[in-house]
Amino acid sequence: MKFQEHVSLAPLTTLGVGGAARFFVEARSSEEASEALAFARARALPVFVLGGGSNIMIADSGFDGLVLVPRMADVIFEEQGDVVLATVGAGMVWDDFVAETAKRGYVGIECLSGIPGTVGGAIVANLGAYGAQASDTFISADVLDRESGEEGAIRVFEKDACNFSYHDSIFSHVGGRYVVLRARFKLYRSGTSRFSYQGNRFNLEALATELGHEPTQGDVRSAIVKMRRDKGMLAEIYRSAGSFFHLPFVSAEKYAETVATARSLDAKKEEELRPWAWEQSDGSYKLASGFLLEYSEFQRGYIRGPVGISPKHTLAIINRGNARTADIAALARDMQNAVEKIFGIRLEREVEYIGEVEHAQ
Ligand SMILES: Cc1cc2nc3c(=O)[nH]c(=O)nc-3n(C[C@H](O)[C@H](O)[C@H](O)COP(=O)(O)OP(=O)(O)OC[C@H]3O[C@@H](n4cnc5c(N)ncnc54)[C@H](O)[C@@H]3O)c2cc1C
Repeated sequence: MKFQEHVSLAPLTTLGVGGAARFFVEARSSEEASEALAFARARALPVFVLGGGSNIMIADSGFDGLVLVPRMADVIFEEQGDVVLATVGAGMVWDDFVAETAKRGYVGIECLSGIPGTVGGAIVANLGAYGAQASDTFISADVLDRESGEEGAIRVFEKDACNFSYHDSIFSHVGGRYVVLRARFKLYRSGTSRFSYQGNRFNLEALATELGHEPTQGDVRSAIVKMRRDKGMLAEIYRSAGSFFHLPFVSAEKYAETVATARSLDAKKEEELRPWAWEQSDGSYKLASGFLLEYSEFQRGYIRGPVGISPKHTLAIINRGNARTADIAALARDMQNAVEKIFGIRLEREVEYIGEVEHAQ
């Protein structure tokens, strides 16, 4: 295993911005990952675990510590009757994993097709799309815990211990404490459609009508990838980190206030953009951040020098070429401030900032 110094991180992220890592290493086994953590501990270095770099933004000044990239990318499928147990390395590209399951006709994660990043990153972020999320099929993960006191000891986190919620898990927000090594997922063999699309934003019935037959997992995958391409939400289309902001959850009172504000500003727009809010089981409302931004200057296709907003998706900030992290951070901040000023709602960032991120003036 080779420890490198001053490695540029921008090419390892989908936004393509940011400085260098003081130290950098790729781990191809649990033992190598453990060795990397020992290296950092001996030098009192902070650690950042990098997956596919699709949900982060690295500071222009880089990361003054060790960047560890898990590269374990093996996958094993075990068929047990109707059930398929998949054990997959954290470094495997998430979409390669999904493609392989769809090819084999396994049911469970096909709705999560076309999303960039690795299996490790998918678990940390509890990646989700079209009403499905990684935690739906997740069973457990093998993890190194830097604070366990036992060097190299692998902890198994069962699903209940992972505190999964919307775009979140126990593994996020803890700055390199955990290294996810591999994960297990429970899938089903085809013909045993146990995975429910009910309440799912993907319309399986409409696809069946269009195709004239019951869609296979491959059909669902192709349809999802097409939908994502149309929205510019495949990594190869724009240099972005996907949605920059989470969808906010607000109380019923705040929702009523938001409706009133939107209608007073532009009632026709409010009507045209429905549905933009979804009532939750606890009485709160999930709002479309893109709807809130529609009332600001920050709309699809917005351009500010080297940065802008995707022409196809209001929430995707893009690097138009030669952007710096500070340019993107300034735009993100201005978008947050604009929505807060109009609606009194602060959009929370989905994209994680790594290192000392500054804002361009
Ligand atoms: C075009 C585009 C579309 C997107 N669409 C979606 C979408 O529909 N739904 C969605 O949920 N997300 C979406 N995203 C965001 C992103 O793809 C996901 O959040 C993805 O799961 C991030 O994985 P990653 O490997 O790139 O993680 P990174 O960005 O590299 O890292 C994200 C976080 O995970 C941690 N991490 C990564 N690997 C490990 C590991 N092995 N052990 C411990 N910690 C780790 C990092 O330290 C960091 O905190 C999109 C992004 C892009 C660019």
